[in-house]
Amino acid sequence: MGEAGGGVPRVVVLGGGPAGLGAAWQLAARGRARVTLVEQNSWFGGNAASFEWEGQRLDFGSHRLHPACDPAILAELKQLLRADLIDRPRHGRIRLLGRFIHFPLKPLDLALRLPPSFGLGLAKDGLLKPLRRGVGGDTFAAVLQENLGPVMCRRFYFPYARKLWGRDPAELSGIQARRRVAAGTVWKLVRKVLSMVPGLKKPGAGRFWYPRLGFGQISDAIAAAAQRSGAELLLEHRVKLLESPRGAAPWRVWIDRGGKESVLEADFVWSTLPVTLVPKLLAEPPPAAIAAATSAVRYRAMLLIYLKLPIERFTEFDAHYFPEAEIAITRLSEPKNYPGLGVPHGSTTLCAELPCELGDDRWKADDRALGDLVAADLARAGIPLPVAPSAVRVMRLPQAYPTYLNGYEQPLAELDRFCDALPRFLTFGRQGLFQHDNTHHALAMAWGAVDCLDGGRFDAAKWGEYRKVFATHVVED
Ligand SMILES: Cc1cc2nc3c(=O)[nH]c(=O)nc-3n(C[C@H](O)[C@H](O)[C@H](O)COP(=O)(O)OP(=O)(O)OC[C@H]3O[C@@H](n4cnc5c(N)ncnc54)[C@H](O)[C@@H]3O)c2cc1C
Repeated sequence: MGEAGGGVPRVVVLGGGPAGLGAAWQLAARGRARVTLVEQNSWFGGNAASFEWEGQRLDFGSHRLHPACDPAILAELKQLLRADLIDRPRHGRIRLLGRFIHFPLKPLDLALRLPPSFGLGLAKDGLLKPLRRGVGGDTFAAVLQENLGPVMCRRFYFPYARKLWGRDPAELSGIQARRRVAAGTVWKLVRKVLSMVPGLKKPGAGRFWYPRLGFGQISDAIAAAAQRSGAELLLEHRVKLLESPRGAAPWRVWIDRGGKESVLEADFVWSTLPVTLVPKLLAEPPPAAIAAATSAVRYRAMLLIYLKLPIERFTEFDAHYFPEAEIAITRLSEPKNYPGLGVPHGSTTLCAELPCELGDDRWKADDRALGDLVAADLARAGIPLPVAPSAVRVMRLPQAYPTYLNGYEQPLAELDRFCDALPRFLTFGRQGLFQHDNTHHALAMAWGAVDCLDGGRFDAAKWGEYRKVFATHVVED
C-alpha cells in the first residue's frame, strides 16, 4: 500500500461504480489527491446505474438505498440530491407456497395468507433449535438448517440459494448465510415481522431512499460532484494493463478507448475491479497459485430482462420475489411503481432478474427467448402478462453476486495478500473485496479508504481496522 513522494499524490481509480466514484469524489473534495477515474462503460454507476430505454428511466434490477446507510454518508447524499432523494415505503410481494405475501412481512397478512401448518412448523423449528446445535459443519445449508430449521430452509432459502448462486446449499460456505440472511434465526424473523407493527416500528423500517431519476442518479450526482472538485473522470476507457512500479517510480496504467491506447501515471492505484482481474491485468504474469486462485473465486452473472407492455400498469407492487424452484426468475420489479420513474403514460416496463453463469446457455440466449421465459414464469406464478410485450431488451451483468463456495476463503485470502503486496495499490468495493454488499456498504468502503490516505501516506493499519468492520456487513434486499 505505502507512501508516495512529496506533494499531493496522483491516484488513478479503476471502475466508476459507487465505490470508485465515491472515492474519486472524496479524494478530490478533501484535497487528498489529484484523481483520474477510468470506467469502461459509457455511463457511471456500475451495477447500480440507471439507463433510458423506450422513454423510461430503468435501473439494473430492483435497487433501493437502505436506511442502514451510514448517517454521515447519507447526509452528504441528501445534500447532493436534495429534494430528488425521496423516502418511500416498500410495497412488494413474495410468492411462497403458491400464494403472495406482502414484503416486508406483516403479521396480519402472514396469518391470513399462509396456511397455519407453515406457521406451526416454523414455531416448532424455533423451539427445537437447541437440539439442532452443531449439526453438519459450516455450510450455507448447515448454518440455516441449524438456526432456522427445515421448514424455512426447504420452502424458502434452499430453493432461492440454488437459483441465486446456481449451487446446492451444501456447496456454499456458511459465510454466505451469515452475510446474506439478515433474519438468520426464527426469533430474528419473528422480531422482524413484529417490527412492522404500528407502535413497535423502528424509524426507517419498511422504507427506503430512492432518487427521482432512478437509482443511478446517486452515482451520476457523485460523478458530477467529483468533477466539480477537480477529479478527471474517463468513460469508455477500459483498463488494459497495469505496470507495477519499482521503488518510488509511478504506476503505469494502460487504458484503451476504441482500440486507441494511452497511459496514465499514478502514485497510487485504487481498484474496484473484480479482484480476480487484477493479477490478469498486471504486466508480469502472476505465480501459478495466484492464477489458480483467480479461477477458484467465482462471481455469479445476471440477466436483466426488460419487457415493455402497452398498458398503464402491470401491478401496484414495486417488486415481486420468487424464491421457489418452479419459477426461474428471482425477482420482478416494475420501475413505474418507484417514485419519479412513473413518467410514461400508456405503457409500463417490467424488469425480471435471472441469475446465470457467464457464457452459459441462458447468458447466450436471445432477447426473444428470454422474454418468452419471463412470460411463461409469470403465467406459472399466477400473474400472467395481460398483453404481449411491445419490446424486449436484455442487459447482462457479468459480476452480479460473489459466490461463496465452500473453501473460497483460501484462494480469496491469497488474492487479497497478492494485492496487498503490490506497492501503493488498494482493492475495494463489492467486486474488489468480493463482498455481497449493498451500495451503502460500497460507499462506506470508499469513505474509509479516503480516510486512510493523508499527506501522501496510506495508513495500512487503519485500513485493516476498516476491513474488520466491512467483514460484518450484512446485505439487505
Ligand atoms: C440485481 C442487483 C440488485 C441490487 N440491488 C441493490 C439494492 O437494492 N440496494 C443496494 O444498496 N445495492 C443493491 N445492489 C448492489 C449494488 O449494485 C452494488 O453494491 C454496487 O453496484 C457496488 O458498487 P461497486 O462500485 O463496488 O461495484 P460495481 O458497481 O460493480 O462497479 C465496478 C465498475 O468497474 C468497472 N470495470 C470493470 N472492469 C473494468 C475495466 N477493465 N476497465 C474499466 N472499468 C472496469 C465496471 O464497468 C463497473 O462500472 C444490487 C446488485 C444487483 C446485481
